[in-house]
Amino acid sequence: MISDKGLVIVLSGFSGAGKGTIMKHLLEAHPNDYNLSISATTRDIRAGEKDGREYFFKTREEFDKMIENDELLEYATFNGNSYGTPRAYVEQLIERKKDVILEIEIQGALQVKKMFPDALLLFTMPPSAKELENRLVGRGTETDEVIKERLAISCKESQNMDKYDYLIVNDSLEKAVDQVHNIIQAEHYRVDRNHSAIKEMQEELKIFERSN
Ligand code: ADP
Ligand code: 5GP
Repeated sequence: MISDKGLVIVLSGFSGAGKGTIMKHLLEAHPNDYNLSISATTRDIRAGEKDGREYFFKTREEFDKMIENDELLEYATFNGNSYGTPRAYVEQLIERKKDVILEIEIQGALQVKKMFPDALLLFTMPPSAKELENRLVGRGTETDEVIKERLAISCKESQNMDKYDYLIVNDSLEKAVDQVHNIIQAEHYRVDRNHSAIKEMQEELKIFERSN
């Protein structure tokens, strides 16, 4: 790895687009490359979820206390529930020059971009709106009413997709996972993320030139 720092990577996308599924497969395929930030939320735990794995599930009071104590890097309300990124984990990884991925919605993504202008913003969507509905229904974790609300939020969110750096169409899951990995890896080699390596080479060449 040649880049100066670890990357702060944000993965957003409509509810049901497949963010969680992509992340699970990405981490399985590349366990040493990425670290996933686990958010805090006030929403109810779904069947199959585990506290501390998908989320830290909090009461409203506990969540408000985290805000009060400045423990959250960013937070937002999504369909009546609060979601936020614990600050300490992300800051520790940045310090250690490790890549950290935040799977968060758009309001949070824009807060992160303000804090870390170098953050890489990825947006994932399904191949069609109908497929989005199929996936939300197929997941079977929300009532018909909540699915309708989430689709309405997606419609609003779609107005802000152009604020992101890359779009990933999650049609074939395998392809989408590869795309996320390849984009992140390529970002490490951008000239503007490699000022230290450039400076080091310039200095070495100057010494070399002087000694000849
Ligand atoms: P999100 O985290 O974005 O809300 P999930 O990862 O929970 O979405 O995925 C929503 C549903 O769609 C799940 O049932 C998941 O198994 C399914 N899914 C995810 N990616 C694909 C894909 N590429 N093709 C078909 N189904 C998918
Ligand atoms: P879900 O209830 O489907 O798990 O998540 C709902 C939305 O909240 C998704 O768009 C998800 O990306 C977003 N989300 C999850 N964690 C966070 C967080 O820490 N901050 C913000 N801003 N959004 C989050």
